[in-house]
Amino acid sequence: MPPKRVLSEWEAEFGIAGVTGEGFAALLDDVWAGLKVNGLESQLNGNNKVLWDGCRALGYEEGTDYHLIQRNATGCRQRCDFCTYGCIYTAKQSTALTFLPRAQATGARFIFNARAERVEIEGGVAKGVVATCVSGGRTHTLEVSAKAVVVAAGGIETPALLLRSGVKDRGVGAYLRLDPTAAVGGIFEHPVMPWSGPPQTVAVWKHIDLDGTYHGFWVEAAPAHPGLFALSIPWVSGRDHKDFMARYYARSSASIVLLRERSSGRVSIDRDGFPRVTYDMESADRDTMVRGMEETARILAAAGAVGIWTTHNSQVFAGDGKAKVGEPELDRFAEDLRREGVVYNRMMLYSAHIMGSCRMSSDPSLGPTSPTGELHTVSNLFIGDACVFPTTPAVNPMISIMAMAKRTAESIKLTMKEKRRS
Ligand SMILES: Cc1cc2nc3c(=O)[nH]c(=O)nc-3n(C[C@H](O)[C@H](O)[C@H](O)COP(=O)(O)OP(=O)(O)OC[C@H]3O[C@@H](n4cnc5c(N)ncnc54)[C@H](O)[C@@H]3O)c2cc1C
Ligand code: SF4
Repeated sequence: MPPKRVLSEWEAEFGIAGVTGEGFAALLDDVWAGLKVNGLESQLNGNNKVLWDGCRALGYEEGTDYHLIQRNATGCRQRCDFCTYGCIYTAKQSTALTFLPRAQATGARFIFNARAERVEIEGGVAKGVVATCVSGGRTHTLEVSAKAVVVAAGGIETPALLLRSGVKDRGVGAYLRLDPTAAVGGIFEHPVMPWSGPPQTVAVWKHIDLDGTYHGFWVEAAPAHPGLFALSIPWVSGRDHKDFMARYYARSSASIVLLRERSSGRVSIDRDGFPRVTYDMESADRDTMVRGMEETARILAAAGAVGIWTTHNSQVFAGDGKAKVGEPELDRFAEDLRREGVVYNRMMLYSAHIMGSCRMSSDPSLGPTSPTGELHTVSNLFIGDACVFPTTPAVNPMISIMAMAKRTAESIKLTMKEKRRS
């Protein structure tokens, strides 16, 4: 759930009325219930357990500084090793099992293998969508006329589609947020098997408000299946890489540090209409990320790690893989971290939360999307994805995205009714 603090920011600074109130809380609850999110399936696999144990050993307060993540699964019982790839037991309550059947039952029709090329806009009013479809091995063009068009192609493709469609607002593509993410690995004496069971069931929130402006970091476990893990470990040579995987993978944990950043980037399009992304991290965010990696290392050490590493090319490493990492090694590790810093192409960085690139604001100079979800500059064109976040929610974003989309769906009904009347 998005913290009250963030929702107050959206309301006070961006004029999105009502998001702190009961109406929006009901939408969040509805999404929560629709996805069958519950607290009975938050089993701690080895990867999450080391975070839990480390926080407890450091004296963090359970429920405030760290807590279990509730999951949209029923009957999972941590029974398999492939959660990242989808759920063959239909335990995971994804949209394929929840919202899409609901939409179909109320008359929605789906077109697969289709790429929206542009929104048709005439005289500042959206009229429909032109798409390229592939079916039966043939490619053809599909034109859909619509009274209202909702674009929900994600943080990069939505602004690209709008720009390809000729939307002129300078705010389209601006303020791209990524929750920049770094990884910290731990090696333990016991098996961790970081690929098994539910990937994420613990979140560490202690450092989310580092400076009173709610810019800080949080820590979670990463879904460390072999491919993701193998591409993340520092590369020295083929032999070293193979040796590391064979020797340590099953005893390794993989944690991620996610930043609620101050920085933002921009999505533009190249001459062929494909998206181009630019993003630069401010130095304050780089410092926060270094601090995040340091604190994560302290959690892993407290959980009994015998080795700790980051994804820097230069192998920032603590411990010898045999004895528990102690205070002096942690201090040296922190010094190495600060020296290496966060420098492009010198460490691996990630992002799984792409947001903000058509942000919502009652003031058109602050964001291209109005608080109803409709673009300020194009009538009947609505945005239904993470692009609308004026600032980031400081949590994993799915529930907030879906609740904002529901809010926009409700306002489409009202807006279209009013337009019909006038
Ligand atoms: C590995 C991973 C793990 C994650 N884990 C979590 C988690 O545990 N909890 C959480 O809350 N969040 C998680 N997230 C983040 C979450 O998945 C995203 O924030 C969310 O899906 C974004 O929603 P969206 O609607 O903005 O865009 P998307 O979900 O990306 O949807 C955009 C859709 O538009 C389609 N599309 C794009 N361009 C076009 C076009 N031109 N024409 C037609 N269709 C188009 C895309 O194929 C896609 O289906 C995770 C993300 C990743 C990558
Ligand atoms: S671990 Fe994931 S994939 Fe396996 S049963 Fe549970 S929800 Fe499904």
